[in-house]
Amino acid sequence: MKIRIGVEIMKILDLRSDTVTQPTPEMREAIASALVGDDVYGDDPTVNELERQAAERLGKEAALFVSSGTMGNLLGVQSQTQRGDEVILGARSHIITHEVGHLAQICQCMGRTIDNPDDRIYPDDIRQAIRPDDIHEPPTTLLCLENALSNGTVVPLELMRQDYAAAKEAGLNVHLDGARLFNAATALGVDAAELAACADSVTFCLSKGLCAPVGSMLCGTKEFIARARRNRKRIGGGLRQAGFLAAAGLIAMNQMSLRLGEDHANAKTLAAMLEELDGVAVAKDQLDINMVFLTLNGLAAPERFVDALKEQGILINGADHGVYRLVTHWGIETADLPRIAAAIDRCRKEL
Ligand SMILES: *Cc1c(COP(=O)(O)O)cnc(C)c1O
Repeated sequence: MKIRIGVEIMKILDLRSDTVTQPTPEMREAIASALVGDDVYGDDPTVNELERQAAERLGKEAALFVSSGTMGNLLGVQSQTQRGDEVILGARSHIITHEVGHLAQICQCMGRTIDNPDDRIYPDDIRQAIRPDDIHEPPTTLLCLENALSNGTVVPLELMRQDYAAAKEAGLNVHLDGARLFNAATALGVDAAELAACADSVTFCLSKGLCAPVGSMLCGTKEFIARARRNRKRIGGGLRQAGFLAAAGLIAMNQMSLRLGEDHANAKTLAAMLEELDGVAVAKDQLDINMVFLTLNGLAAPERFVDALKEQGILINGADHGVYRLVTHWGIETADLPRIAAAIDRCRKEL
């Protein structure tokens, strides 16, 4: 996206999220020529192929194309719990903070949150949170993990394995919210399937750093996916000629997942540039993936910072408890980074 300022053409640098990524030229071609059919009849060859390949990539039996990560998490929880069950999950997990309470309203489960400063869940947390078999208490049946975490860090494979073992020992199922699963795998230097092996069900987004216009995948056993497919239909998520979306999804999963290291490197380079600036503090321990978290000191008018940057052609979200998040992605090149740092420096000094 570009805007014209005077006679100059300025590239808009949108750091609000990796969800702003545009489909690649290759995706647009694949969409135009996709073979499609009625997916509710199971007739869409491109959706079927995406589901087959997603399952294979994560080492699961089956997969389901869903319209969003939120829908994937909803179906992941709903298809593995009964009404009144208790689910263990992080206090700042996406399911708790950003999914409009489907855990309570639609899944009708209790949430038992684990509130560690690093947002990780450890085996002891799980053991302590599991309810005893007592007539007064709701049964604990599911653990939800997240990787990468929304705080920009990744959870080591070994900890995931320990958590999975602790959950299984107590008879719990595990759902992994892997919205940025391939970012996590890239940062950890492991295969996405190794992370997926630490969960019974996994969801990942095609529509974030992988650049697909729409969609997420939910993966698990055949039997689980059959239940999720039925539940998807019930909430209105049965799609017809969805192969147009799946065509982009195949490119997202197979090609764009291989380049995420560039986004991570750009985030680290940007962080290093910002650290050089007066009055800017970067969270150096939250730089595992494509996110940079920063705070600004000495701003007289912090409420004007986002608008001031926008005038420079740089888009960011407002601060969350004083912390700004910048997200790198396919639309941000290494050559763009000095302009971002310079604009932040200028706006901070002017405000
Ligand atoms: C983005 C995200 C989701 C799902 O998001 P949608 O916008 O519904 O696709 C789920 N979990 C995490 C951690 C996310 O970052």
